Amino acid sequence: MKNYGDVMSSSPTSRSTALLLSGLRVSPGDAPGLKGRSTKATLGFHKESAETELLDTRLKIDLLQQRLYAEQKRSVLLVLQAMDAAGKDGTIRHILSGLNPAGVQVTSFKAPAGPEAAHDYLWRVHAACPAKGELGVFNRSHYEDVLVVRVKKFVPPKQWRRRYGHIRDFEQMLSDEGTTVVKCFLHVSKQEQADRLQDRLDDPEKRWKFRAGDLDDRTLWLQFQAAYEEAIRQTSTAAAPWYVVPADRNWVRNLAVARILLYTLERLDPKVPEPETGLDDIRIV
Ligand code: ADP
Repeated sequence: MKNYGDVMSSSPTSRSTALLLSGLRVSPGDAPGLKGRSTKATLGFHKESAETELLDTRLKIDLLQQRLYAEQKRSVLLVLQAMDAAGKDGTIRHILSGLNPAGVQVTSFKAPAGPEAAHDYLWRVHAACPAKGELGVFNRSHYEDVLVVRVKKFVPPKQWRRRYGHIRDFEQMLSDEGTTVVKCFLHVSKQEQADRLQDRLDDPEKRWKFRAGDLDDRTLWLQFQAAYEEAIRQTSTAAAPWYVVPADRNWVRNLAVARILLYTLERLDPKVPEPETGLDDIRIV
């Protein structure tokens, strides 16, 4: 049985974590400078202890998520964006396993179809935002509408350019109304992507993940990087910051995203509701 008091008292997010995360966070108005950021950094984590640390971080996330759920007043939205094979799915699996599924909503966004395509680009996104008490995770998001849509020229520049403003306002609105938004770009190198795509092709258990379209996107690598660079610069705000997470090493990526989520929940500090009064003398027989 988990003892939650012990879980939280063991080691609250330390100053060093706050410092580490501030290095990954893109300050409002700043360019992320993706080219100059290492995709292989270990961030001071150690491979031997990373699994234990991830477990410990997850236990704390679990407790805070349960409090968020009990409180029923606020919500958290974690947005994950990345190039193919950077590990969005793996990150989600590693950081969310063991959480109460009742309070977690994962939404994967594909190319819009049917009613989604018939509405504005934020329609499906808003509908998927977490309800009070929930932790929502987006696997891809409204950012596709300034990324793939820009790179593949699905709409003219005038149209995707004005979306940065919509997105800032949309996320500010979510924040004002009680949803804490935090966004992670899983930053992988082109070489690491090649290795992982090859691995998918070679492994019968993973081959299903391979789409020939991934190779088309790979030829547009520089255009995608430029689109990410601008999207992050335009939309990293105090209300909805971007973190650039080095993603060539899975164990670093998983622990970093877990720490970002924990840090976000700790700052929110959800509280379980006050119990009814007069319960002290009740004995259940
Ligand atoms: P994933 O790569 O996330 O594991 P898929 O292989 O099904 O999942 O890819 C989803 C595809 O949907 C991606 O190529 C992505 O660019 C595309 N997509 C998502 N949102 C949009 C959008 N708003 N407009 C166009 N394409 C989109």
